[in-house]
Amino acid sequence: MNIYDANLVATIFQHYGFEKSTNIHESEFIILQTCSVRKHAEDRIRNKLVHYTALKKKKPDLKIILSGCLAQHKAIELAKEFQEIDLIVGTGEYLKIKNFLENRCNKKINIELDDKIDYSDLYSEQFYSDSNAYIPIMRGCNNFCSYCIVPYLRGRERSRKPQDIINEINKLNPNKFKEITLLGQNVNSYMYGNIDFPELLRLIDENTDFKRIRFLTSHPKDISIRLIEQIAKLNSLCEHIHLPVQSGSNKILKLMNRNYTRESYIEKIRLAKEIIDKVSLSTDIIVGFPGEDEDDFKETLELLDIVGFEDAFMYKYSKREGTAAALIEETLTEEEKVKRLNKLIKYQLGISNKVLHNRIGDIMEVLIEGRSKKNENEFLGRSRENIMVVFPSNNKLKMYDICNVKITGVSGKTLRGELI
Ligand code: SAH
Ligand code: SF4
Repeated sequence: MNIYDANLVATIFQHYGFEKSTNIHESEFIILQTCSVRKHAEDRIRNKLVHYTALKKKKPDLKIILSGCLAQHKAIELAKEFQEIDLIVGTGEYLKIKNFLENRCNKKINIELDDKIDYSDLYSEQFYSDSNAYIPIMRGCNNFCSYCIVPYLRGRERSRKPQDIINEINKLNPNKFKEITLLGQNVNSYMYGNIDFPELLRLIDENTDFKRIRFLTSHPKDISIRLIEQIAKLNSLCEHIHLPVQSGSNKILKLMNRNYTRESYIEKIRLAKEIIDKVSLSTDIIVGFPGEDEDDFKETLELLDIVGFEDAFMYKYSKREGTAAALIEETLTEEEKVKRLNKLIKYQLGISNKVLHNRIGDIMEVLIEGRSKKNENEFLGRSRENIMVVFPSNNKLKMYDICNVKITGVSGKTLRGELI
């Protein structure tokens, strides 16, 4: 979502004749598109602000804009701490940048949430750097997971009109874009009139020509059999589900306010595997949530074994002021959290490796995204299942072509193969 929003901000600048700069010392504007989901992201922005505000002291004409999620969360604090910031715009106020560029903005801090969710009128695809286009289908979240700041900063769920989504997809140049990722904090709860997410997928499949459609992110409590069946049925839908589980312990899931149990999660995974041929699965996990003891952690490791995720994004719990969990006293030290996280990462790597071995012999449809870092003569591509595949290149193929690759081996989390 932040990549989409950053492109949106860049597009506004483009309308006013600005170009993306490759040299910060020659830039007239520095725009920081921020995230506040974890403290690490916040720390990085603060470090950048120290650096850029120092730059501005030497070059007073330079303008600094702080935009997005953290900008909204810590607007007053950051404006005080870094007085050189010229403009702060939250996730609902990107259009204030227009006023600023026309010298019509008289407020430095703009952090209201409005209901505008459709920016396709001003969006341009120019700034996308690869062959995947992000298309938001909804904004906001109603779930209030106890650790998460997102609902406070992006507001309640608002779903876009299906025809607007379809029009935005159809505006994309099919020679440049090969893949669409539909975006939302919780795409499964998409609802516009009586059109729900499975129905939206059917409409997109029917009315657009893209052959690889993905979506992010799904909430386990809302993933339905109809959705799973739709993924199996619609040819455009990629055979991959990212389904953040966060923890394998019912006690912790309850404290996290996730509204599903370990058992119901495992049952949905079983259905997905049964209904979607060769589906691949990935997840997000938080370790070290307040109250997580050794047994809870062990249950998370066990769940990883049961499911067999191809990949996982793993984080240590980060206390976010303003959330319900911030009121629960932390029970683990930073060191203990890091220790659990490292153990988890290592454990999952073993599982990824094991699960990926089952793909040997399969023929996968791969979109070429670059060259292997280790060997210039090899392409690196992404399969429909969202697994990275390395294979020897040939002169007839180029970046962003789609080809079929027979899988011959595994190296870490990457598959190896040969062109067929
Ligand atoms: N809406 C999505 C993604 C939200 S943010 C979802 O529900 O899954 C992406 C991931 O960041 C989350 O899945 C979670 O694993 C992680 N995350 C969110 N808040 C966090 C926090 N306070 N500390 C650590 N990780 C967090
Ligand atoms: Fe955050 Fe939970 Fe909403 Fe995801 S579903 S954005 S984790 S509150």
